[in-house]
Amino acid sequence: MSAEPNSVHPRESGNPGTKDWVPASAGTNGQEQPFHADLSAVRRMAGLLPGAWPVAVNVARVAASVRPNRFVIEGGDDTPITMPRTAFQVVYPDATLMIDSGLDRATHESFSTPDKREPYFPEAFAKVQKALNDARMIVLTHFHADHVAGVTQAANFDDLARKTFVSVETARCLLNTPHRPHLAMSAEQINRFVIFDYGDYYPIAPGVVLIKAAGHSTDHQMVYIALQSGREILHSVDVGWVLENIAQVKGKAAPWVKEDKGAVLGQLRWLNNILRNERNISLLVTHDDALIDAAIKNGTIGGELKT
Ligand SMILES: [Zn+2]
Repeated sequence: MSAEPNSVHPRESGNPGTKDWVPASAGTNGQEQPFHADLSAVRRMAGLLPGAWPVAVNVARVAASVRPNRFVIEGGDDTPITMPRTAFQVVYPDATLMIDSGLDRATHESFSTPDKREPYFPEAFAKVQKALNDARMIVLTHFHADHVAGVTQAANFDDLARKTFVSVETARCLLNTPHRPHLAMSAEQINRFVIFDYGDYYPIAPGVVLIKAAGHSTDHQMVYIALQSGREILHSVDVGWVLENIAQVKGKAAPWVKEDKGAVLGQLRWLNNILRNERNISLLVTHDDALIDAAIKNGTIGGELKT
């Protein structure tokens, strides 16, 4: 694609807007929007691309934000909840794929003030940087800083960009609504990514299928992963901040989150159905520390990136 992402295939359901977390569809008044992703279609698509399926998924936690539970979930109390900022690595027999990129310290600290710094783990981010460098490909789930800045702020951005896959929606968000002022990018920079467009689902790699799920942001996507072992992982990304959002079908409650609450609620209900009924699927949530601890402990994912 050579034109500006801005000029290519604008999806009318999206609202490019000018602020963070722009609602994906105006006027829903928070009323639940049914979400009907077809799991059997997603599973079928996982087998479309030639190549061996992944053998493992690993996670890295590069930073965290600590927020009272009343911001994390409707009806929550003042208990502080540690929400990690994470990246995931999908391991194939002969290559790796990174899902999201973590973020550099400066971008992490742009979300706090000097008197209230939040945890940052430079050794973990150094491992993510190495994993990004070594990866065959990188997929960004949506444009938010904690998911993309490990690529967009990298000293070797050009090298990473040419193997980084971003949807047209994400390209447009990066161009039109940078999550932080210092993350603003030119169309020329954005065109160095591999930019793709699709309908509801997209087989991005063997065993891995993206699921369009606008709501948290206009470009937000979930990631389905079928492993060689027969196990399945569904990374719900940021539909909920923690698994409890899915278990209770209750949205985030932070005043600064301006997402499409109705769309997110429909997706939480869809995920809740999977949580209760799909015993072969393990759910992941980007920012749920306890869930990630449990998933590492029971062997669903690895706690160290392969580098
Ligand atoms: Zn996030």
